[in-house]
Amino acid sequence: MRIDGIKAVVFDYGNTLIEFSARQAHACDARLAATLTSLYGPHDPAALRRIRSADRSAPYAGDPPEYRENDLPAITRAAVAALYGRAPTGGELQTLLRARFDAFVEVVAADPDTVPVLERLASRFRLALLSNYPDAPAIRESLRRTGLAPFLDPVLISADLGRVKPHPLPFRLMREALALPPEQILYVGDNWLADVQGARRAGWRSVWVTRWVPPEEMPRTAGDLPPDAVIPALRDLPALLGP
Ligand SMILES: [Mg+2]
Repeated sequence: MRIDGIKAVVFDYGNTLIEFSARQAHACDARLAATLTSLYGPHDPAALRRIRSADRSAPYAGDPPEYRENDLPAITRAAVAALYGRAPTGGELQTLLRARFDAFVEVVAADPDTVPVLERLASRFRLALLSNYPDAPAIRESLRRTGLAPFLDPVLISADLGRVKPHPLPFRLMREALALPPEQILYVGDNWLADVQGARRAGWRSVWVTRWVPPEEMPRTAGDLPPDAVIPALRDLPALLGP
């Protein structure tokens, strides 16, 4: 299996370039829980779990879904209201948002395979990042800390775009930034709906990476488009793109 005619390779972030599966998601939620407790006292942990689960699936909910990215201050305020029946002060909200930022940046670690793969591809392809995440500065800081930032240009994050993949907007904005026809762009991601379906519907080529399991389950539906290739891990990508 070879994928030819590619000029740019665009990556998803979580569970594609770095692991962000249940362990990382739980670590972020635990930090949020601890910060809430320090500000307001104990809360019902099951209620917070339900809130976080609903937050994660909210952008993909609805019929048809609007694929609107979460407003992080708004969902954080709503969590405080639901758990404690009060509105956070401005300072409390900043403390909670800072805790979320720090937890994400600290829990994300560079995978030893990722930099060598990007180094190998960078001489032949333009490399870029298109990520669904409600905190763009957290992704950018994480890219700096993991050493991936120098390889990826542009970096587009749903928090800045208003819509999440698989909505067409993120793919259109990335294609315009790359100034390439869609069939010359390869998207590499772990999420069946956001990544594989989003890219294929935009006319891009698609590789599905299955190494890590995303925290949110994205079921397949009739009429889904197949990826061009499925790989068990990122290290298998260069072989698909030729010598
Ligand atoms: Mg992902």
